[in-house]
Amino acid sequence: SSPVPSGDPESPLGARSRIPAVVGADLEVPVKGGRLVRYANFDYAASAPCLEPVSAAVAAALPAYSSVHRGAGYASQLTTARYEQARHTVRAFAGARPGDAVVFTRNTTDATNLLARCLPEGTTVVVFETEHHASLLPWADAVRLAPPAFPGEAVRAADEALAAIDGPKLLVVTAASNVTGELWPIAALAHIAHRHGARVLVDAAQLVPHRRLNLTALDLDYVAFSGHKLYAPFGAGVLIGRSDWLTAADPYLRGGGASRNVAGGAAEGAPLATEWSDDAEQRHEAGTPNVLGAVALAAACDALSATGWTSLVKEEERLIGLLREGLAKIDGVHELSLWGPGHPRVGIVSFVVDGWSAREVAEALSSEYGIGVRDGRFCAHPFVRHLLGEAGRLDDGTCADGTAGAVRASIGIGTTEEHVRRLVAALTELVSRR
Ligand code: PLP
Repeated sequence: SSPVPSGDPESPLGARSRIPAVVGADLEVPVKGGRLVRYANFDYAASAPCLEPVSAAVAAALPAYSSVHRGAGYASQLTTARYEQARHTVRAFAGARPGDAVVFTRNTTDATNLLARCLPEGTTVVVFETEHHASLLPWADAVRLAPPAFPGEAVRAADEALAAIDGPKLLVVTAASNVTGELWPIAALAHIAHRHGARVLVDAAQLVPHRRLNLTALDLDYVAFSGHKLYAPFGAGVLIGRSDWLTAADPYLRGGGASRNVAGGAAEGAPLATEWSDDAEQRHEAGTPNVLGAVALAAACDALSATGWTSLVKEEERLIGLLREGLAKIDGVHELSLWGPGHPRVGIVSFVVDGWSAREVAEALSSEYGIGVRDGRFCAHPFVRHLLGEAGRLDDGTCADGTAGAVRASIGIGTTEEHVRRLVAALTELVSRR
């Protein structure tokens, strides 16, 4: 029997409880004049800090650090059990169907690229231009849809595009935009996709740190997300979904673990003949996997589930509401959005500042106030260009590389009211200087 207790209720936090702390919440950073100030991290959408229970789970896994899957020793068995338990936890967290594959990858980008390599011959991909590059670029041949003016138009555009395609089709869409935080109508899009016999891949990288995902209830075929945006340290992501396309395709990575048997060679006087595993997870996880990354990702899933989405969402909405209200009051700061300020979103807001380039704003916030934001085009160049064009800012807001960009502030567990007030006060001060 497994040396690791199984079952998701055995979460490190026990019963539904208070929001866990992040590691490094007391980090101090230097600002101009040599002073040290508490770091105010507004870059969660890029990578979120590690939660304390996640750090504890990684530390607890380290003493049994040993090979997975093929080792006979006790530490190997323990490590293997922890790895497979992590898969089970992530499956439950995403609300996957019993037969779905849960393939550990390096990150979301790796997951979308894995699916791209597994598409049946002749598949046409339909994707919105508003996607992060991880979901926009992996497809050799895709129908790319312009940014829809309202959510219903996204559904209509997908409907029309999918109706015009024969053969296998895949609709790719984000659940929450990494630029504006806006939530996409993924249930309606999945419904339309299925009416046309298409499958749907949802990029959930920005959804899972903020909202519950239930692949079964939403009737999604595939989802992809990353541990490092979900309060786990870098290194592991996941592709979850229907296993048939994955087991029909040649492995994305060829090597040990993916191969069930390699026959032939000098001993038999015959050319090598590889039989690939018909288990989707083994087939696409060749080589030694990132066990600690998977353990961390699962611990983050456990910590969020144990905290409960109601309290997480409530606190996030309070803080992002405060931030957006504060920004709206500054004459000269303009929030960017596709579907208007009233559309529901996660804790991400992008904006431009009159008289300041995005780079200048980000540098001043860091060097003078100890605030970390992101500036640029957030790996969603066509979408950010579209938003900047709508805001009449294509010619200014210059990024470090000479192109137009925006400022993005994103929040999560660990963000405090003091951080929000500091950011709003700092921007008010910056605007008043020019
Ligand atoms: N999709 C979205 C919506 C993202 O925000 C990101 C990261 O910024 C990615 C995909 C890519 O994630 P990763 O860099 O972990 O592969």
